[in-house]
Amino acid sequence: MAQNWTCPYCNRHCTVGDDNVKTLRGINYISETYGAYRADTQVITCPNPECQKQTISLGIYQIDSTAQYHNVIKKLHYWNLLPESMAKPFPDYIPQQIRNDYNEACLIRDKSPKASATLSRRCLQGIIRDFWDIRESRLIDEIKALEDKVDANTWTAIDSVRHIGNIGAHMEKDVNVIIDVEPEEAGLLIELIETLFTEWYVQRYERKQRMDKIVGLATQKKEEKKNLNLANSEKP
Ligand SMILES: [Zn+2]
Repeated sequence: MAQNWTCPYCNRHCTVGDDNVKTLRGINYISETYGAYRADTQVITCPNPECQKQTISLGIYQIDSTAQYHNVIKKLHYWNLLPESMAKPFPDYIPQQIRNDYNEACLIRDKSPKASATLSRRCLQGIIRDFWDIRESRLIDEIKALEDKVDANTWTAIDSVRHIGNIGAHMEKDVNVIIDVEPEEAGLLIELIETLFTEWYVQRYERKQRMDKIVGLATQKKEEKKNLNLANSEKP
């Protein structure tokens, strides 16, 4: 069955079907906690010819052992085995330290949301300091200083994450203070960081590439015209 899927290695959005998705159904077990269950391994091969890497996951499913095909009743647990983290690949022109904090925040999001959120807050501060050259003692003041610099949509995204539960309450504290958060909150911070990487670093880089290309083409045209004029003036 075809499904939409984003490759965690190359970040390409694609459709994967039976050719790319292989599921190895596990043996049925019975446990006191789960009742009838089984563990399935799934391997998805990226259809992008330049990538073709494999993503491996393990799922524990409660099943109906009385049904003919042992239908899945519900998903009990799920782990990404490879790659270990769902961190997206971001380009080298984003400073290494900032990308390291992001990658580690992704790696421990489910195992330790509070450690993940701490790394995300440090990462967020790193982004604001590096990209906007804003330096205040508290992250909250650095965020406030952004309001009149960034576009309205980006500001709304930052501002809404800032107002969620414990994240919001602790933006006022030092970024290194560890705070209790739910995995969803840690996930939201990660999504915000991914958005800012794209909206700020990637867009600035791509814009510069486009501008350089225009300047390069214009210079080339000017040179060509100059050479043509020179050639004409040298004609007898
Ligand atoms: Zn891929």
